[in-house]
Amino acid sequence: MTKKTVGYVHLEWECPACGTRNKGVDKICRNCSAAQPDDVQFEQVAQESLIQDEKLIAQAAAGPDVHCPFCGTRNAATATQCSQCLADLTEASAREAGQVVGAHQKKAVPDVACTHCGSMNPGTALQCSQCGAALPKPDRPKPATPRPQMRPARGRSRASRFVLFGILGLFVVACIAVMIISSRTEEIVGEVQGVSWETAVLIEALIPVESETWLDRVPNDAEILSCRQEVRRTQPNPAPNSVEVCGTPYTLDTGTGLGEVVQDCEYQVYDDYCTFTQLAWREFDLVSLTGDDFEPRWPDPTLAQDQRLGEETEAYEVYFWADGRSYTYRPRDLNEFTEFDDGSRWILEVNALGNVRAVTPDR
Ligand SMILES: [Zn+2]
Ligand SMILES: [Zn+2]
Ligand SMILES: [Zn+2]
Repeated sequence: MTKKTVGYVHLEWECPACGTRNKGVDKICRNCSAAQPDDVQFEQVAQESLIQDEKLIAQAAAGPDVHCPFCGTRNAATATQCSQCLADLTEASAREAGQVVGAHQKKAVPDVACTHCGSMNPGTALQCSQCGAALPKPDRPKPATPRPQMRPARGRSRASRFVLFGILGLFVVACIAVMIISSRTEEIVGEVQGVSWETAVLIEALIPVESETWLDRVPNDAEILSCRQEVRRTQPNPAPNSVEVCGTPYTLDTGTGLGEVVQDCEYQVYDDYCTFTQLAWREFDLVSLTGDDFEPRWPDPTLAQDQRLGEETEAYEVYFWADGRSYTYRPRDLNEFTEFDDGSRWILEVNALGNVRAVTPDR
């Protein structure tokens, strides 16, 4: 974040001796002539307008005022002698400075009624234009404080959790039952009655594939279709091709009776974000062969330019006849499949569900 100065505004202070509100630049109460003590803080005026007077601005930028170590009177940072008691100010301590006094108050404030004579005065006035009495502080809008974020409601209700656990439990019981049933096998002798097989080959092709990235990350062999400006990063300092984003202005106590209106800014740096195409291998077609003989073959597709063969898949089935019904067995690969001949006899391990778990030659 960069702190940017918007300008300078007047502050005020309230005399602890008589309660009169005084201009920030006044070092002595205009009502009772008491000096402002160092522990009496400056406050915001009801409506802040930026100071145009160069001399005042220079005063605000000179550093916080100092309090005379002998009589306590406030003096400018540049003063060498106390304006009240002429004491030397080299040992004087500076006022606290830099603290936030509030959000910048630009809005006009309503008129205030004099509590003494009842006549109306501008909200910015310190004393009644009719009778000279001190005016009460006008109401000013409080700066908005960010509200804590609402937390999302917690979890599911107990009832729905109960149902969920119930379903899960039933599922586990069913799984165990299936495992028990399918693990019990019996051996029967079967005869090979027939087979089937299916082989397949994927054809891949070089196809232009669309992607998006920052211009400096586009691959060299890619073709750029279009680019647009997007925010690439946010940084605290200004940069070329950036947009300044600033927060709400607020006022700081400079310790001089004047406030510095500042705002925190950051910079959104823009860059080219591009859509491009690049050639990449993608699935194009699947060619398959099926048969019901004992000699499986692989498809042999003719490839066009920019095409290549991809993944190969195979599936085999052997059909047995045993005890008056048909059983299906699925060999893992071609090696196992070639062990079966038409009419050969095998011992089948069959579970309660009628699935063939394993086969061995019946010798
Ligand atoms: Zn006073
Ligand atoms: Zn003094
Ligand atoms: Zn009055």
